[in-house]
Amino acid sequence: MEGMCLPDILLLGGTAEARALAMRLSDMRMDVVVSLAGVTDQPADYRHPLRTGGFGGVEGLANHIRGKGYAAVIDATHPFAVQISGNAVAASLAAGVPCVRLTRPQWQAKHGDIWHRVKDLGCAVDSVPTDARVFATTGSGTFAHFATEERFWTLLRVIRHPENPTMKRGQLRVADPPFPVEDEVRLMRDHRITHVISKNAGGSGTGKLQAARKLGLPVIMIDRPVLPDCTAGFTDIEAVCSWLTDNVAFRS
Ligand code: NAP
Repeated sequence: MEGMCLPDILLLGGTAEARALAMRLSDMRMDVVVSLAGVTDQPADYRHPLRTGGFGGVEGLANHIRGKGYAAVIDATHPFAVQISGNAVAASLAAGVPCVRLTRPQWQAKHGDIWHRVKDLGCAVDSVPTDARVFATTGSGTFAHFATEERFWTLLRVIRHPENPTMKRGQLRVADPPFPVEDEVRLMRDHRITHVISKNAGGSGTGKLQAARKLGLPVIMIDRPVLPDCTAGFTDIEAVCSWLTDNVAFRS
C-alpha cells in the first residue's frame, strides 16, 4: 500500500453512531466527508469535513457520488430515516460503489415490560384506548398525527419545534436529551400518563422504557421499517472499519 492514498468515503450521518464511526475513521486516517440533512443549526464535531442538506433524491445522490469520486458510501443514519437509506442503496448501485450500513441494535423487551409491538405510527395511534393519556416520543415529524387527535390526550416530546405547534388535545414539550429515568418517572406521573408510544430506535435513550417498566405502563412500540438490502450491514463500528479495510479499493 506504500505511496497509495486512502479512499474517499461519504458518511451519511445524523446519529451518535455516525459520529463515533467518524472518530474511529479519523483515527484510521481515512479520508471521509460527513453528510447531514441540516436538521440542527449547530452540528456536532465529526472531525471530518461536513456537507449539509439533501442531494435531490436518488439521481442527485448518484451524481454527487460520481462527481466527488467516492469509493464507498456508509449509511449511518437513524433506523427510521427510511428515505435516505433507500436512496443510499439505489444511488450507490447506480454509481457502482458499495453501500455499507451501520445500524444500532434494537431495544429488546425485558422482564416487567408491557410492550405492544405495531408496524407503524398509524397502527400505534389506532391501538390507543379512548381517553388514554399518551406520552409519545416519536419525533417532530409525527406532530401532525397527534395535533388533530381528539380521541385521547397526548404529551408529545420533540427536540425540534414544529412550525405551528397547536394540539387539539394534548401538549407539546420541546426538550433535549439526555432523559434520565427519574425525570421520566416524574414526567409520566405529573401528566398521569397511561400509555407510552415509542419508535424502536435503539441506543441509549432508554429512560422512558425503564420508567414505563417501573410504573407498570404499557409501551406501544413501533417496529423498525424494513430497508432495502445494502452491500453489507453491521451493528458494530469495528466491523464496519474491518469491512472497509478489506473491501474498499485503495486509489493512487
Ligand atoms: P429521511 O426521511 O430518510 O430523509 C428525507 C430526506 O432528507 C432525504 O431524502 C434526503 O434528501 C435528506 N437527508 C436525510 N438524511 C440526510 C443526510 N444524512 N445527508 C443529506 N441529506 C439527508 O430522513 P429523516 O427521518 O427526516 O432524518 C433526517 C436526518 O435526521 C437523518 O440524517 C437521520 O439520521 C437523522 N435522524 C432521524 C431520526 C428519525 O426518527 N427519523 C431521528 C434522529 C436523527 P434528498 O432526497 O434531497 O437527498
